[in-house]
Amino acid sequence: MSILLKNVTLEKGREVNIYIEDNLILEISKEVKDADKILDCNNKIVIPGLANMHTHAAMILLRGYADDMLLQEWLEKKIWPIEAKFNEEIVYYGTKLACLEMIKTGTTLFSDMYLYMKAALKAVKEMGLRAMLAEAYFDFFDEEVAEQYKKKSLEFLNEVKREGCERIIAALGPHAIYTVSKDSLEWISELANEKDVRIHFHLSETEKENKDCIKKYGKSPTKYLAEINFLSNRVFAAHAVYLSERDVRLLSNHNVKVVSCPTSNMKLCVGSALNYPLLKKHKVLVTLGTDSASSNNNLDMFEEMKFFSLLQKFYHANPVLLPAKETFEIASTNAYKALGLNGGKIEEGALADIVVLNAKNHYLLPTHNLISNLVYSANGSVVETVICDGKILMECGKVKDEDKIKQDGINAIKKLIQENG
Ligand SMILES: [Zn+2]
Repeated sequence: MSILLKNVTLEKGREVNIYIEDNLILEISKEVKDADKILDCNNKIVIPGLANMHTHAAMILLRGYADDMLLQEWLEKKIWPIEAKFNEEIVYYGTKLACLEMIKTGTTLFSDMYLYMKAALKAVKEMGLRAMLAEAYFDFFDEEVAEQYKKKSLEFLNEVKREGCERIIAALGPHAIYTVSKDSLEWISELANEKDVRIHFHLSETEKENKDCIKKYGKSPTKYLAEINFLSNRVFAAHAVYLSERDVRLLSNHNVKVVSCPTSNMKLCVGSALNYPLLKKHKVLVTLGTDSASSNNNLDMFEEMKFFSLLQKFYHANPVLLPAKETFEIASTNAYKALGLNGGKIEEGALADIVVLNAKNHYLLPTHNLISNLVYSANGSVVETVICDGKILMECGKVKDEDKIKQDGINAIKKLIQENG
């Protein structure tokens, strides 16, 4: 399949035609080539797809289910009890709905950690996005429970391999140091090396996590993980709010990737913010994520860019920190780089993960500086067409079966709540 994006305006204002063949951008030039599908991009802007590197997609069905609560109360009284009732069906329809929202708001790559991930895998395969998927692992320091999760993790890795879908990257998903034992973390780390897969993990999200770790092990979570040989270039650490300079040095030495989730951190009031200047100083690769739609409450990466940038500027009292271009790269190119993928950029030879925006959308006018408009003004409503892996997932605002995907999601969560009171 070939696609020609005709009369495209690139981010820097350059007008070109983009020729896509299979899943790659083959040519960017003035030449008008013939193609199976030609999209007229007059008055359109083309940007690389955005990347949401930390989410729990199916939790979109819990959007608005419980808000304005203390973190522990929110988890223990509302989220965990209903999640305990979740099943494959819920995760399948929830993940489809989450993919729909990500497509509609210009995300082409996401990283998910959740339960019943075989169902999520099926959903992502059908929806066409690129994703790193991890079966969540919690053993709560119980050996029998650990055995069950080891089995689930292995089964999921095998399932991804069996499906053989190039867009989907398998990962392991140990939840956090306060829910996963040392033995399990060591087992996961060895398995990741053996199977050559990534690890998706929550690290130092709250001050409590750090304090409890220091009390239990006499060291910070990062130091504890370094000492059990858990840290490596395979690890994607979400949140990473409470880090000392020594922790950041350890993350840097082991080439760990960090995923900042500013909206979720603000909504759940974790009490601090990622120390981006320190991570940058030690050359730690930072990416961006929304976390789940129950703590955000959407999966719109345009909004996440703005929140990230503003929170950093505010927290460090420094308006020149994070120029818009740097924030945009953190939300796009960095994630592809972190996964060793040639994507997140509009270049010949790169993966055809492309988002077409309406240049006449009010959020993008006037265009003194497009990148500034994208980061500080726009939201997902500026997105018109989305191409992922060389396939059109949304054209002129329309995604195939959109109404059905929405209704199926609503029906699934309604049914679950009715059945469980
Ligand atoms: Zn999370």
